[in-house]
Amino acid sequence: MKKIILSLSAIMLMATACTKQQTTGIDLSNLDTTAVAQNDFYQFACGGWMANNPLTPEYSRFGSFDKLGLNNLEQVNGLIQDLAAKKHKQGSVAQKIGDLYNLSMDTARRDQEGIAPVQKTLDEIEAIHSHDQLSEALGKAMDFGLWGMYVDADAMNSSMNILNEFQGGFALGEKEYYLDEDDHTRMIRDEYRKHVTRMFELFGYDNAEARADVVLRLETRLAKAAYSNVELRDPQANYNMMSLDQLQELVPQIQWQSYFAAFGVSLDSLSIGQVPHLQEAGRLLADEPLEDIKTLFAWQVIDGAASFLTTEIFMQNFHFYGQILSGREEPSPLWKRAVGIVNGTLGEAVGQMYVEKYFPEENKARMLALVHNLQKALGQRIENLEWMSRETKDKALEKLNAMTIKIGYPDTWRDYSKLSIDANDTYYANIRRAAKFEQDYSLSYLGKPVDKTKWYMTPQTVNAYYNPSSNEICFPAGILQYPFFDMSADDAFNYGAIGVVIGHEMTHGFDDQGCQFDKDGNMQNWWKPEDKIAFDLRTKVMEEAFNRIEVAPGVHANGAFTLGENIADHGGLQVSYLAFCNNEAAKAEKDRLQTRDGFTPAQRFFLAYANVWANNIRPEEILQRTKSDPHSLGRWRVNGALPHINAWYEAWNVTPESPLYIAPENRVSIW
Ligand SMILES: [Zn+2]
Repeated sequence: MKKIILSLSAIMLMATACTKQQTTGIDLSNLDTTAVAQNDFYQFACGGWMANNPLTPEYSRFGSFDKLGLNNLEQVNGLIQDLAAKKHKQGSVAQKIGDLYNLSMDTARRDQEGIAPVQKTLDEIEAIHSHDQLSEALGKAMDFGLWGMYVDADAMNSSMNILNEFQGGFALGEKEYYLDEDDHTRMIRDEYRKHVTRMFELFGYDNAEARADVVLRLETRLAKAAYSNVELRDPQANYNMMSLDQLQELVPQIQWQSYFAAFGVSLDSLSIGQVPHLQEAGRLLADEPLEDIKTLFAWQVIDGAASFLTTEIFMQNFHFYGQILSGREEPSPLWKRAVGIVNGTLGEAVGQMYVEKYFPEENKARMLALVHNLQKALGQRIENLEWMSRETKDKALEKLNAMTIKIGYPDTWRDYSKLSIDANDTYYANIRRAAKFEQDYSLSYLGKPVDKTKWYMTPQTVNAYYNPSSNEICFPAGILQYPFFDMSADDAFNYGAIGVVIGHEMTHGFDDQGCQFDKDGNMQNWWKPEDKIAFDLRTKVMEEAFNRIEVAPGVHANGAFTLGENIADHGGLQVSYLAFCNNEAAKAEKDRLQTRDGFTPAQRFFLAYANVWANNIRPEEILQRTKSDPHSLGRWRVNGALPHINAWYEAWNVTPESPLYIAPENRVSIW
């Protein structure tokens, strides 16, 4: 595909030239005009959308993101089905995509194979005869373990890749599930115990109930020592570079030389993520009975394999993770799961086909113009901050201007030639080979310079990211569509929707985590101490504002856990609104107040923003996300965020009588 190189002024001319025929982009059927915008903006802006898009049994949450995601999934499905219906040369990308899809769809074959595909892995665990063998077994293991290892940029030397350790070994993921004593969490623990029991039974184990008790006991031990989601947000505390000798001293129960030899890597040093957890894992491996450790490992293999085996096992797995944890009534249809697996395994190969067919190249140019306008606006806002010194401002501007921008799809595509998908093998065997391929790919970067052209999302993804270690923002083709981005819609719409998303990602470079990394992505303090104190005081206001939000009866949002995302939403709104005004400034005042579809441009900006977060969600999912998702819930990304934006009060004439009203002196003001 050709790269279009346009100067910025040429792009802006293009954007202005087509203003005349543009629509407002606002779908009036999304609104609930019986609601009062000033009293419940979310209901006013999204009430129609929520009524028109009720939850179907397969979803625990369905929103604008999911609706667009579904559209992309259907498009990708069409591309995959074309390949799956034909024969292709063995080893070609088309053969891999087609065969993996067909394997995913073949439930009859899986029902017939039973648990046989996973038996060999379970037997390997059975064959461990002494504690002494554990280091090597863990080094070799792909399907069980008490911690994870991944290759990523060194936080202190962002141009080089290192090995990073990360806490693990407890299937529920969040430590609170093992420790909280509220009724809902206790119910989940009871159901989890039943689920583990049932799964051991389905896999033919004796004493299934006793085994479930062992799993709960060992997982709780690990969870207690683990960092909470809030502690995991502190980059300094989660970076502990050390030599292998130091590691051996820190966690003497593991023979680290044998562990890494079995893992297949040679290294002098690595970063340990969560020291107390790894120490506890070491102690656990030494002082727990071998049979209990093996039971935990077997459970991990079973848990990881459940989605790729018989219908009965799949449904038991769905019962716990889908129904109990999320409130879903039914699993997704088979084709969606199959496309999801192909997307997850051969994502860039599918992505390449996707952008060739569905991504208009001109989107890239308008998007780039938007990004540059946002960058300029954030620069202006930094210049005007009254709480920051000149010195720190210069550093912040330097960082802002150094950001790498990625739009649409990568310049070079990933090579899948070493991945083998074999239709004669079981589905599970193929999935494991794909996981091994992924691990080898990741390990091939170890000790090498960071590849700055690499993408961390596939082009068909409806999402965007900021990566602190490369100081880059990335917007895949998948999100550059309605209701985020619309070539035919006017600026009010595009700045309110994708503009805020761009500003959100940029602000991540300056949130409570991003601010600890410099322009080159190194964890290095570039703040004058008094500026950092002022910043922390301001983010505290944000944290407390979200702590006050009641997401379900008696349950509050976690302001510390969602802080980075809430700062990013706040910054995104401020910056995009300024960029929008910069753009409008050229026009006469009367033009700015002129309504279209009954709303002024400023009002439409906020409607477009709110519509991005329209969603329906189940009560179980609200509780699950409050524990596990660093983003605030859709409703609060609107009703929690907007009351801190002065322009929203002006656009909608919000007065102190409104329940959403926050006095100016109590509003958040950061970037
Ligand atoms: Zn974010």
